[in-house]
Amino acid sequence: MIKEKILGFDVCSTSSDELVKEIFQDYSNKKQSVIFSINPEIVINNYKDEVYKEKINGQKYQIPDGVGIVYASKINKGEIKNRIAGIDFMHRVIEESLKYKSKIYLYGAKENIIELAKEQLQKKYDGLNIIGVCNGYVDEETAVQNINEASPDILFVGLGSPKQENFIIENKDKLKSVKIFMPVGGSFDVISNTLRRAPDWIININLEWLYRLIKQPKRIFRQIKLIKFVWIVLLDRVKNKRRR
Ligand code: UDP
Repeated sequence: MIKEKILGFDVCSTSSDELVKEIFQDYSNKKQSVIFSINPEIVINNYKDEVYKEKINGQKYQIPDGVGIVYASKINKGEIKNRIAGIDFMHRVIEESLKYKSKIYLYGAKENIIELAKEQLQKKYDGLNIIGVCNGYVDEETAVQNINEASPDILFVGLGSPKQENFIIENKDKLKSVKIFMPVGGSFDVISNTLRRAPDWIININLEWLYRLIKQPKRIFRQIKLIKFVWIVLLDRVKNKRRR
């Protein structure tokens, strides 16, 4: 697995196809995999927190989620050429899982939304086996119990960051049946058609962040962090060059 560091966070520069292949090799070997989406917000919120960084870096897969990560890689003369949006990668994992007849569990979002997300996914993927859902507002212990009762192979967790990453890190040893864990942020809201994603042409010109800002203006404070992120990556690059 080829990785590079963005402000101390590991990010895979491997292609999406290669990642899926390796994840399902691990799956066949009954190894637990955690797939974290690394976006500028996670990096900027936690780059000074060595313990958190170690927890994230301690997992095998970190995907470059967000154009900010691609820019940062460019600034660092790295190899990451394309963004892999968490929600797109979730669909890739689901598609591949059909070959293995995997049992899938969805945890997160509001009750009606998670039910709708299940319905939409089952409509889209013929033969998809979603064996259970749990809304993201029950206490963690109940969620762990519910998930274990269903005994899934793949678990998608949509609680927002950093709650979802912490849930996976803290509970993955208790969730023995699960072989693939993936936090998915607000993806259940999109899948359920409650929240619309930007049209493809906007995604393709890397302006999805602007579309989200217009649709959810309260995201402005989160978006400002993107500017801070690029600035800190630039400073870090200058500092590292001087040190050499
Ligand atoms: N959420 C949840 N439980 C909580 C807090 C949030 O299930 O205690 C859900 C919320 O309903 C939404 C998602 O987590 O579906 C958060 O989405 P957000 O847009 O913050 O995530 P992003 O995609 O930006 O990481």
